[in-house]
Amino acid sequence: MTSSDLIPTIMNSQLDQLTFDNRFVRELPADPETFNNRRQVIGACYSRVLPTPVAKPQLVAYSREVAALLDLPEEICKSDDFVQVFAGNRPAKGMEAYATCYGGHQFGYWAGQLGDGRAINLGEVINKQGEHWTLQLKGAGPTPYSRTADGLAVLRSSVREFLCSEAMHHLGVPTTRALSVILTGETVIRDMFYDGNPKAEPGAVVCRVAPSFTRFGNFQILTARKDIALLKKLVDFTIRTDFPHLGEPSPDIYIAWYAEICRRTAEMIVHWQRVGFVHGVMNTDNMSILGLTIDYGPYGWLENFDLNWTPNTTDAAERRYRFGNQPQIAFWNLGQLANAIYPLVEQVEPLQEALNVYAETFEQGRQTMIAGKLGFNAFDPATDEELTVELLSVLELVETDMTIFYRQLAMIPTQDSVSDEALMLPLMPAYYVPEQLTADYKNRLVNWLKSYIKRVQRDALPDKARRERMNAVNPNYVLRNYLAQLAIDKAEQGDFSMVNELLELLRHPYDEQPGKEEFAAKRPDWARQRPGCSMLSCSS
Ligand code: AMP
Ligand code: MG
Repeated sequence: MTSSDLIPTIMNSQLDQLTFDNRFVRELPADPETFNNRRQVIGACYSRVLPTPVAKPQLVAYSREVAALLDLPEEICKSDDFVQVFAGNRPAKGMEAYATCYGGHQFGYWAGQLGDGRAINLGEVINKQGEHWTLQLKGAGPTPYSRTADGLAVLRSSVREFLCSEAMHHLGVPTTRALSVILTGETVIRDMFYDGNPKAEPGAVVCRVAPSFTRFGNFQILTARKDIALLKKLVDFTIRTDFPHLGEPSPDIYIAWYAEICRRTAEMIVHWQRVGFVHGVMNTDNMSILGLTIDYGPYGWLENFDLNWTPNTTDAAERRYRFGNQPQIAFWNLGQLANAIYPLVEQVEPLQEALNVYAETFEQGRQTMIAGKLGFNAFDPATDEELTVELLSVLELVETDMTIFYRQLAMIPTQDSVSDEALMLPLMPAYYVPEQLTADYKNRLVNWLKSYIKRVQRDALPDKARRERMNAVNPNYVLRNYLAQLAIDKAEQGDFSMVNELLELLRHPYDEQPGKEEFAAKRPDWARQRPGCSMLSCSS
């Protein structure tokens, strides 16, 4: 063996050419302690900590769009050096690894310090357009914030986070992105349903990418500790870096900033309700200050439309984070953020007014969303509120696939002369239990469809134009829970083809993709009760 064999990988890697501008670590105070033990971190926004090297990293998938955001050519993503860097085995030039300190309300209760327990930021890349993108590894080993856990992530949850981040982006939903998912070659012990059945599972690391990963909880922890000087520092930093258009920080700007967070959060929630996404764990530590969907854990997609549904078994009793409750929870979380920044404003009223921006934006967004989903020129409160209420009741009466229903609603004949059966026919693929389609149910559905057609006729929009309008906001393909699970089953056997097939499919969720019809079909019956398909826990 020569001495050069010992030099790890490539010297002149293209990853070493990335330009880093690590503002977070440069401008905010660091934890003076650098030893990697679990602790309370006071007076600092982050701790320096290196990813734990892994035995045998292997690429599962990468996103070419995210690579492009970082100006990374695709060949690089296939190189061994890429795998080493994004498994956490080698820092590229300019990277400065750190975990951030945050707290949060979990399931409605203040939980104290949480922090990046298994996320390690690598730094902020500036791309050719001058945009900043923070790179973050999830599952790269323990940090001072790991509490009693191991800092690791399993392949199933990593594939779910990777695919859903990209799927959401292509659906037009604000979200953090994912560059890569890499197997570590090591196993991780997880008790998936906390029922005393721990199992060794393959470990993995996802590289997440976002302008920043700052959460409501990053501010909350500082206020909880009465560290108002540092709170001001972090707020000013966040405004200058993530919200530069607002201008120089001042008490007025704090309020404008908070109002913008309220607006962005409302817009995000409208999108979730539009596509049938249920986050599953809307704790305040899982709320991005940028209004991005963040922390994909026990999330799920509505199959049969059910306002009470949550995929998260940990929340099965209370259902705090059920589909229909997401708008209220976001509002509650924003209230907690208002409490956190209150010491910088010291007036309740302007914060209250700004919080009203959430309700107004949500209501406006909801109306526009409904008009889009139903293909109207605009939402007309005089008629459309009643129409919507009845539609949601009809959808909940029997098991009705939400995605298929809206997509097929675009196909119904709108001439006056058609029979009831012909009117309902396009919707039949949306139903899970044919026996539920009783005469009473059909009557109610037909009545609704007839009012809907009358409403559509009022807009005098040609069917084709209405269909196009609806199909632009009603996806044909979503990351159905059972599809993700099938891709995971294969990946656990070393076959990554379905992960990549779904990644490709979900790049164009609104299109009809010939040959891919099965991915748009309703959940097969075998998946109804299968873990991972219908039930998920926080164990990941
Ligand atoms: P979550 O419910 O996944 O948003 O996580 C809540 C808190 O637990 C955050 O501080 C996470 O970083 C931390 N956490 C979750 N899973 C792990 C893990 N396997 N190891 C260390 N910390 C974790
Ligand atoms: Mg989290």
